[in-house]
Amino acid sequence: ACDANGTAGAIRAAAAVVTEHRTELIDLDRAIGDADHGENLNRGFTAVVSALASATPETPGAVLKTVATTLISKVGGAAGPLYGTAFLRAATALGDRSEVDLEGLVAALRAGLEGVKARGKAEVGDATMVDALAPALEAAEDAAKQEGADISTVLIAAADAADRGCESTVDLVPRKGRASYLGERAVGHADPGARSTALLLRAFAEAAR
Ligand code: ADP
Ligand code: MG
Ligand code: MG
Repeated sequence: ACDANGTAGAIRAAAAVVTEHRTELIDLDRAIGDADHGENLNRGFTAVVSALASATPETPGAVLKTVATTLISKVGGAAGPLYGTAFLRAATALGDRSEVDLEGLVAALRAGLEGVKARGKAEVGDATMVDALAPALEAAEDAAKQEGADISTVLIAAADAADRGCESTVDLVPRKGRASYLGERAVGHADPGARSTALLLRAFAEAAR
C-alpha cells in the first residue's frame, strides 16, 4: 500500500521523467501538432512539485487533487484539462482513504480513464492518450487478480500495456485533437499524449518498486 508521502514521491518521480523527456514530447508533437506538449507538461509538473512542497496533503487523494488543480491551472492546451480531469477523478475515487491499496489503485486508474473519455470524447483507436490509458487499465485489472499481485506488479503491467498502446498509435489516423487536422498525413507518428501517459505510468511503476 502507498500513503500520502509515497503518492507524492511517485508524482515527483513522474515530474522528473517529464522534464527528462520534455524534448522528446516536443518533437513528437512537432510532427503532428504544435510542438508544445513537452513544454506544457513540464510547466505543469514543475508547478505540481512546488505545490506539493508548500502544501502537505495528508491523503493520497488530496495529493492527486493538488496535482489535478495545478495541472488544470498551469497547462494550456488539450492535455491540461484532460490530465487534470484524470487526476481529479482518480482523487475522488480514492476519497479520504489513508493508503492506496490494490483495489484503490485499479479504481483510481479506471476513474482516470473515464474522466479523460468524458472530457475528450475519444475512444480507443482515435490516436490519443486513451490508446495508452485504456489498455493500461485492462492490464492493471488483470494483473490485480494474479496471485501475489501488489502495487508494483500492477503498475508494471499497466506501464507495459501503455507502451504497447502508444506504439499502436503510430499506425492510426488521429480522430481527436490537433493531430486530426492532418488526417492520413499523421500516420507513421506516435501520439505525444499516448507517449506521455506511458511515461507517467512507467514513472509510477518505478517509484513503487
Ligand atoms: P494541444 O494539442 O492543445 O497543443 P498538447 O500538445 O499538450 O495540447 O496535448 C496533445 C495531446 O492531447 C494529444 O497528443 C492527445 O493525446 C491528447 N488529446 C487531444 N485531444 C484529445 C481528446 N479529445 N481526447 C483525448 N486526448 C486528447
Ligand atoms: Mg500541442
Ligand atoms: Mg498547444
